[in-house]
Amino acid sequence: MDAPIKLGVITSGGDSQGMNAALRAVVRTALDRGLEVYAIYEGYLGMVEGGKYIRKFAWDSVGGILQQGGTVIGTARSQEFRTRQGRLRAAKNLVEVGIDKLVIIGGDGSLSGADVFRQEWAGLLQELATQGEIDPAILDSHPELSIVGLPGSIDNDIAGSDMTIGADTALHRITEAIDAINSTAVSHRRTFVVEVMGRNCGYLALMSAIATGADWVLIPENPPDVDNWEESMVKYLKAGREAGRRDTFVVVAEGAKDRNGKPITSEYVRHVLQDRFGEETRVTTLGHVQRGGAPSAFDRNLGTQLGFAAVETVLSSESKDKPQLIGMRGNRITHTPLSECLEKTQKISEAIITHDYTQAMHLRGESFSTSFSTFRTMLRALPHPVGPGQERLRLAIMNSGAPSPGMNTAVRVATRFGLDMGHVMLGIKNGFEGFIRGEIEEMHWMSVHGWASRGGAELGTNRKVPNESDYYKIARNIEEHQIQGLLIIGGWAGYLSAFQMLNERSHFPAFNIPMICLPAAIDNNLPGSELSIGADTALNNIVNAVDKIKESAVAQHRVFIVEVMGRQCGYLAFMGGLATGAEQVYLNEDGISLQKLQIDLQKLITGVNQGKRLGLMIRNELAHPVYTTDFMRALFEVEGGDLFDVRQAILGHQQQGGTPSPFDRILATRLATKCIDFLIDKGLIHSTESAFVGLHGKDLVFHPLEDFLRLSDEAHQRPKDQWWLSLWPILNTLAQPGPKVES
Ligand code: ADP
Repeated sequence: MDAPIKLGVITSGGDSQGMNAALRAVVRTALDRGLEVYAIYEGYLGMVEGGKYIRKFAWDSVGGILQQGGTVIGTARSQEFRTRQGRLRAAKNLVEVGIDKLVIIGGDGSLSGADVFRQEWAGLLQELATQGEIDPAILDSHPELSIVGLPGSIDNDIAGSDMTIGADTALHRITEAIDAINSTAVSHRRTFVVEVMGRNCGYLALMSAIATGADWVLIPENPPDVDNWEESMVKYLKAGREAGRRDTFVVVAEGAKDRNGKPITSEYVRHVLQDRFGEETRVTTLGHVQRGGAPSAFDRNLGTQLGFAAVETVLSSESKDKPQLIGMRGNRITHTPLSECLEKTQKISEAIITHDYTQAMHLRGESFSTSFSTFRTMLRALPHPVGPGQERLRLAIMNSGAPSPGMNTAVRVATRFGLDMGHVMLGIKNGFEGFIRGEIEEMHWMSVHGWASRGGAELGTNRKVPNESDYYKIARNIEEHQIQGLLIIGGWAGYLSAFQMLNERSHFPAFNIPMICLPAAIDNNLPGSELSIGADTALNNIVNAVDKIKESAVAQHRVFIVEVMGRQCGYLAFMGGLATGAEQVYLNEDGISLQKLQIDLQKLITGVNQGKRLGLMIRNELAHPVYTTDFMRALFEVEGGDLFDVRQAILGHQQQGGTPSPFDRILATRLATKCIDFLIDKGLIHSTESAFVGLHGKDLVFHPLEDFLRLSDEAHQRPKDQWWLSLWPILNTLAQPGPKVES
């Protein structure tokens, strides 16, 4: 039998949330594929030191770490690894164990170091052989070092991935902190400057400013474009106060600079505000809070998916020819040559240093630039004045379906965006019930003040789908209020209602207006969009609840069956299971059979016999009409005998509540501006084209409203195409009680 392939895995540089998920996925996937896996503790420091820092890992070595922050194998900064001498020692330590494949989870510094190491590998081994430090035969058995990089950094500053592992959690910490400060600031009419991390990257600052409805942001890539930016900032903030804002927030990225490259510190901003804005100003530097706490659901699943893909890549010829960085674009795993990613990352830093801000913004990508300009619209005290002779459309916004966190953010952005473009914005209250009753009011700039971070649905919402007798009243209200375009922010009920209105146009000419649906449903069950707003918040609510449930386990061996929402769509159950390390997930899509339950029961018994303390099964609320959560609990309880006891938890409405997650706020912002653009475009040319918008990969795409049912599995009220079902192999691999192939 061939000697097993030996893989090293290392976390390096600044720690970030989700590194543990990546480590777990790398270790278990590698073991499953028959590899031997070695964790290298304390980053490159451990690689240089060798010995106890390089430890063989087993399946259980990475048990129970998904929910832990930071990295359980430690990280450090190593000056020695920056020297050839240090790398010589590292190479010796690796080949002594037999490792010539590495997965590196870290920032651009760590990945650059790995690339240097790889290029020098043959030379280093030659030198070691010449010095008599290693057996010359090793030169033939380990001719090259294969490396695969995973972007691990809170800063989101690595080209080749939309998101780095840890950035989403950092955004959670920042928005939580700003939301909290916000409530005291509003009470006291205070001014705050909040400094956030990010080194040369303004991602955390810009996105947290958008997510919290801050009043000003200073980022390295796009300094204020006037020399006396202080004046212009103060003027804006004063206008905001005059328009009725009770508090003022300025977010400063730690790397912020002015156009001439002079750093803008939060302390300097405080002075400016105190002196010229004339108000006592406080600075909050968030610091290491941003690295703390449990990883978000997104970071756990990102780390897991990238870790799984890393092992597959290490085993393919791809990584031999050219080292790869595994990243994520939209919801898709991408492989990009590492050198290309490092070069582009470097270029952005250089553009900032040489004050080429157009280039810096361009390299950050289109969605970053669009977000920046959206933010500039949102922070205005009042909309731009209406141009002379400009046609003003009357556009209405409503919610429909169950409440979904992020609905308020979307209404706020849509309202302000429409007003800023010179149009009249109307709010329809209480979904289609309110539409039928004519509960329609004009919305103003300050009507939506403070809505960016608010949970629930301020405009009101419900699941009412109009029937034939209602159409007449809706048509009359459209005519009475001269509505020329309709934005429906909602779930299945909203989409279905819009679709029916489309089909009733021949009977009700008033329905001949452009209509657009924006996906907002925690269930993530809408066609045409890989994600709907609210789903990320609900997923985080589930993950937080399951973390607590797991911690509550005092019994020696316990199995939990957790029931989650989603109606007939398994997204929340599946992704919740992936993020919490569930042994099994039960979906309506697959159903439940007695045979499956028996197999799962056997797996639980094997797991417990191998020393597992906790078992976790996640079940979608409508997974099966007969094999209910209670049935499963009773079955497992009886069959588990003395081996383990079983508890059930039905999470209920807490999944729908709470403030929207940063991801949901950002997605709501992107979608809402796109929808208003659509209504204006169509309205101005008197087109009646109607659509539903969605996230596809990295892009926002429109689908003709006519296609609603064609793209849906109507009987189950979910899309025909559900991208996340392709993640089954990952869940199946990681959820086993042990590797298929013993190492
Ligand atoms: P991050 O990976 O988060 O960007 P650093 O820039 O501090 O963090 O890099 C982490 C470690 O990677 C450094 O302490 C050093 O050991 C190694 N490293 C960084 N850059 C290089 C380089 N150019 N050559 C060799 N090693 C490097």
